Amino acid sequence: MKLSKLASEIAESPTFALNEEARLLRERGEAVINLGIGEPKNKTPISAILASAAKLTSGEVKYTPPDGLPSMKKAVIRYTEENYDRLVAPENVNITNGAKQSLFNILYSLLNPQDEVIVIAPYWVSYNEMIKMCVGIPVIVTPEDGTFTPRFEDIERAVTSSTRAIIVNSPNNPSGAIYPPELIEKIVEMCEKKGIFMICDDIYHKLTFDRNVAVPAYHFTKKDVENSHIIAVNGVAKLYGMTGFRIGWVIAPRDLSRVMSNVLAQTTSCVSPIAQAAAEGALNGLQSVVESLRLQIQNNRDVLLQEMRTFNGIRLVEPAGTFYALPDIRAFSNNSVEVSKFLLKKAMVVTVPGKEFGMEGHIRISFAGSVNDVTEGIARIKWALDPTSPNEIYIGDKKMIRDWM
Ligand code: PMP
Repeated sequence: MKLSKLASEIAESPTFALNEEARLLRERGEAVINLGIGEPKNKTPISAILASAAKLTSGEVKYTPPDGLPSMKKAVIRYTEENYDRLVAPENVNITNGAKQSLFNILYSLLNPQDEVIVIAPYWVSYNEMIKMCVGIPVIVTPEDGTFTPRFEDIERAVTSSTRAIIVNSPNNPSGAIYPPELIEKIVEMCEKKGIFMICDDIYHKLTFDRNVAVPAYHFTKKDVENSHIIAVNGVAKLYGMTGFRIGWVIAPRDLSRVMSNVLAQTTSCVSPIAQAAAEGALNGLQSVVESLRLQIQNNRDVLLQEMRTFNGIRLVEPAGTFYALPDIRAFSNNSVEVSKFLLKKAMVVTVPGKEFGMEGHIRISFAGSVNDVTEGIARIKWALDPTSPNEIYIGDKKMIRDWM
């Protein structure tokens, strides 16, 4: 079949593909543990449920303005003032179908063919594919071996006359790293000096552990949103564990916001008002739900670290935020795709190969699930990889035989 070359070259999302594989295995009765997908197990906050139910029962479920319901924008404006110390106008806000659509619409609205976007490895899988969909070129900056924080000099060196933007995701999926404030400051300065847009994917900005904080880029400029080169992306998926509601938003200068709003109007028209009402409910409701989710995830992270301590050969940079860890598995194999396949087959644990994130020799482990999943999942990974493990174990009533890939 003759299809679009551009569309056909877009890679399948590995996390969704693995999630589907895990679901099928579970359907067949296999005791699969999914440490692949980044999705907390919490229930939707009650304020979100009530607000969306009220919208639904009103029977007034119609198109909204493409860039979002005025009341939803108001909630985002308040969030921006509280968390970014910036007063923005409704014209600076776009409400989108998840942060994913925010990021796509930004790139689609900024890029001309062959424009370059700097992406820092390890990176979230969708950035490169989105840039390619917008006929741009991803330029990857990789940190030195053993760290997940890039050197500013390497970022600066990647800038060319074609650079339009840099995507900064801190706290970072997949490493859990939070970039130091000095690095963020230097990137802000560089972007302002060179007229490059700094796209801040802040989706995990409140999911930080211990004393770590992710200082927002706006902190390092005196410019208002209108004149700044910073674009901030956020959403309810990780903040409230509301992944299925598909609500994200962008804070950007008006000119860019207007173009993005046209893109939204001509593609998806608007975001469902039921989902917008839910997000509004969450943003206006009790914020203690964010803290309880953070504490639960931090506890999971501590359990993971505890389990990993006795895992000979594995090297792990402690995650400072998010719900992901990216252990170095090169003591066992350099091929992360093979290792992930092996772990699914031998230990029935889903992980994501680091290769997908531009970090070969690592696997991503999500600790967003239950404590049991984390404990049992790591125990199984240990059993499968460690050559000193017993040769067989039972998973449920199924006997598993250990033999190296
Ligand atoms: N950015 C990053 C770094 C993510 O990890 C995700 C979700 N996995 C998103 C954006 C997209 O979020 P949403 O579900 O709101 O589209």
